[in-house]
Amino acid sequence: PPIIHILGIRIDNLTMSEASERIVDLIREGKSNQVCFTNADCMNISVINPVYRAALAAARITLADGIGIRIAGAMLDQNVCENVNGTDMFPFLCAALGKAGMSIYLLGGKPGISEAAAAWITEHHPAVRVAGYHHGYFSKDEEPGIIAGIRNSKADIMLLAFGAPRQDIWISEHLNEFGTKVAIGVGGLLDFYSG
Ligand code: UDP
Repeated sequence: PPIIHILGIRIDNLTMSEASERIVDLIREGKSNQVCFTNADCMNISVINPVYRAALAAARITLADGIGIRIAGAMLDQNVCENVNGTDMFPFLCAALGKAGMSIYLLGGKPGISEAAAAWITEHHPAVRVAGYHHGYFSKDEEPGIIAGIRNSKADIMLLAFGAPRQDIWISEHLNEFGTKVAIGVGGLLDFYSG
């Protein structure tokens, strides 16, 4: 697939529909992979935050989120094919997951938000199994229990809404503990689909 580079970050130049299919392929591959959405703000943070930069570099798929990346690409003669943000991509992802009969875990947002987003999935994409959900306000001491909950759910994919870059760093630190084949940081997505 076509790759572009902005500020030294590798970006997969995919449409939302292509990205959703690639994610299903990654799940089928069966390893643990991280997918990141990067917008212009993320790019700037990556320049001064080496831990975040390493997480982006290690991600299996990095997607071009927002007009800023598109403009930067155009200035560098690298045409970004689509603005791929998590919220707009989510219906494509659910459709692809549903067709493949896959399951999802939702982590993040204030209490009640992940549950409401789970209800949205069940209503609009009944073929996607919601394996579990949990809110995103827990202490360091509670982390092992949260991670065990994700692992025990046996979900194929986890969506994490903590806001960037924290969500992406947290995923990179725990990627092999979730038991999910793909983990993605999704920012405000759960809030959007909670009603
Ligand atoms: N959040 C969370 N735990 C925290 C801090 C934030 O679950 O300790 C959630 C918050 O409720 C919201 C999301 O993380 O759902 C952050 O969304 P935001 O729009 O700020 O992220 P961005 O899209 O800017 O990355």
